[in-house]
Amino acid sequence: MSELTTKCLIIGSGPAGYTAGIYTSRAGLEPIMVEGEQPGGQLITTTEVENFPGYIDGVQGPQLMEDLRAQAVKYGLNILSGIVTDIDLSTRPYTATVNGSAMTVKADTVIICTGASARYLGLEDEDRYRGMGVSACATCDGFFFRNRNVAVVGGGDTACEEALYLANLASKVFMIVRKDHLRASKVMQQRVFENPKITVLFNTVTKGLFGKELLEGAHVETTTPDGHADLYDIEIEGFFLAIGHKPNTEIFQGKVELDEAGYIKVAAPSTATNVPGVFAAGDVADPDYQQAISAAGTGCRAALDAEKFIMFNS
Ligand code: NDP
Repeated sequence: MSELTTKCLIIGSGPAGYTAGIYTSRAGLEPIMVEGEQPGGQLITTTEVENFPGYIDGVQGPQLMEDLRAQAVKYGLNILSGIVTDIDLSTRPYTATVNGSAMTVKADTVIICTGASARYLGLEDEDRYRGMGVSACATCDGFFFRNRNVAVVGGGDTACEEALYLANLASKVFMIVRKDHLRASKVMQQRVFENPKITVLFNTVTKGLFGKELLEGAHVETTTPDGHADLYDIEIEGFFLAIGHKPNTEIFQGKVELDEAGYIKVAAPSTATNVPGVFAAGDVADPDYQQAISAAGTGCRAALDAEKFIMFNS
């Protein structure tokens, strides 16, 4: 088994991870990044990003991540492909096992940037039709639903973005929204309401999915203002979940303090966790903002925190 050592191990490669990589590289910490299952993180599956400062006409998510990665590599970030499967945070230097037992990395400090993953409703049928019509990524799978009917579940910015993206491909897009209003920003709401291909089903929940092998439809229930519940079917071949995310903290359970929802607790405004020399940045420690730019901002702070920690603890 090969072993590497570093002053700073960065786990995860979203905007937080790459920004931490840029800062720690420039500070001479010779950081190592383990990039995780989906290099580039969630933005790899996004289309246009219009709110990352510096890109006047917007930028495609994958391009933004490529730019951040190239900038970090230019300053010396060593990127390992693979995932951290176990981590020992009981004694310093901390030891991370990468890809099973193929490699270990010993690190004086650790910056956790493992992000968050899409949530599913928890219906049995979701598993049954996953890859057969059920997806949590319109930009990845929308192509397969050209000229078909699809549904998007959720009423936030992600759901609106997915619905608008799908409206360019599909014949019809249902948005299944459990409340009587959208949570998304006004500008996204307006775009959705103005799109003739999108029908928003308010006060509606999904009861089940059906289809022989491939998905053919969903059983949905709409509650009318007088409290009457109306159960009916919609014919759809694609069912896209856009109901938020859960933090990727499984391997840190019992090792780093987490909140009730599983997000890593940090001593804000610093990025320090309850374990000395272990910091967390990006969505994994942020249930509230979850923006690329706020993740990048905390990645910067985590790098500065790690640098300071090394200065006073070596
Ligand atoms: P949000 O948490 O904002 O929205 C989740 C949506 O899913 C809500 O409408 C919520 O309903 C609904 N929902 C949650 N659980 C269920 C359930 N079990 N059944 C049915 N519906 C459910 O998540 P997003 O991923 O949309 O956005 C996360 C953050 O990222 C936000 O801050 C958002 O603004 C930002 N974002 C910004 C973008 C941009 O600016 N370009 C693009 C995408 C995201 P309810 O309202 O009833 O709770």
